[in-house]
Amino acid sequence: ERARLDRLRHTPAVTLDGERVDLLANIELPDDSAAAVAAGAVGVGLFRSEFLFMNREGSLPGEDEQYEAYRAAIEAMNGLPVTIRTIDIGADKPLDRMSVSELRHEHQLNPAMGLRAIRWSLAEPSMFRQQLRALLRAAVHGKLRILFPMIASLSEVRATVDALARARAQLDESGRAYGPVEIGAMIEVPAAALAIDALLPHLDFVSIGTNDLIQYTLAIDRADEAVAHLYDPWHPAVLQLIHRTIERAHAIGKHVAVCGEMAGDPAFTDLLLAMGLRSFSMHPSRVAAIKQRVLRADTRRLAAQLSRVLHAEQPAVAAAAAFGGSPAH
Ligand code: PEP
Ligand code: MG
Repeated sequence: ERARLDRLRHTPAVTLDGERVDLLANIELPDDSAAAVAAGAVGVGLFRSEFLFMNREGSLPGEDEQYEAYRAAIEAMNGLPVTIRTIDIGADKPLDRMSVSELRHEHQLNPAMGLRAIRWSLAEPSMFRQQLRALLRAAVHGKLRILFPMIASLSEVRATVDALARARAQLDESGRAYGPVEIGAMIEVPAAALAIDALLPHLDFVSIGTNDLIQYTLAIDRADEAVAHLYDPWHPAVLQLIHRTIERAHAIGKHVAVCGEMAGDPAFTDLLLAMGLRSFSMHPSRVAAIKQRVLRADTRRLAAQLSRVLHAEQPAVAAAAAFGGSPAH
């Protein structure tokens, strides 16, 4: 069994019909990149940088400490791409009260809809630029993609691009070296999925955050047990938003990934492949199971069944029936 898993780790994720699929890892701290490499991930698709800022007694990491953390993650991946998401605090990921007492982060009526993620970064421009400077400096050491969480509008993309330009200008002034980066937006607010055509020209890539996309599409708090039974990744509205995002991105040649839990759940692998997805990012422990699904998939056959599943009253049932002919079932 060990030898089999070892072989699997070194086997490229290619479908029966020859489509290459990238399986990347989600990590929370730089040390997790060892697990990503061990799992055979071909890069980091999501480094949740807010974990550097959480559970700290009072002080937040400054530019140099952040730079060292980002650099460590990038170097550990040996030239493979590393996607680092800017701080996504608020809602289910609160900052330590002490560290934020001086920041505008209290009295939120509805944290999931409040000043979180990119909204918080844009409201704290000097902290945001500090993180961007650390990221730009780390980009000298490998292939870095910067990912912005919870983008809802074009104005946020523009403000973010401006902040990045300012961070570069500051590095120029101080004579510090920095590297090239690609920039992308999380698509996790329904508005972003619907307005995707306006956002894409300003971005190098997008990554679909299904965890929040489901929460905001269905108005189901992802952390509220009382409504957990209504949190439905198979809801046709959710599937349409995901499909639309993949299609529009591919139509103009932009890279698109899924980095929410759906990417690491084998129940959705066939469906996402049928939608044209070729980049999945997941917890390192999920890579082997998803790779096994990919190796047994025939994307042309799956794609031919897609509209049947998307238009079904019960997509989960329809998917089991439509994709069920593969040896995976
Ligand atoms: C998501 O929302 O799907 C996601 C990947 O980000 P997080 O779970 O950190 O909100
Ligand atoms: Mg999210």
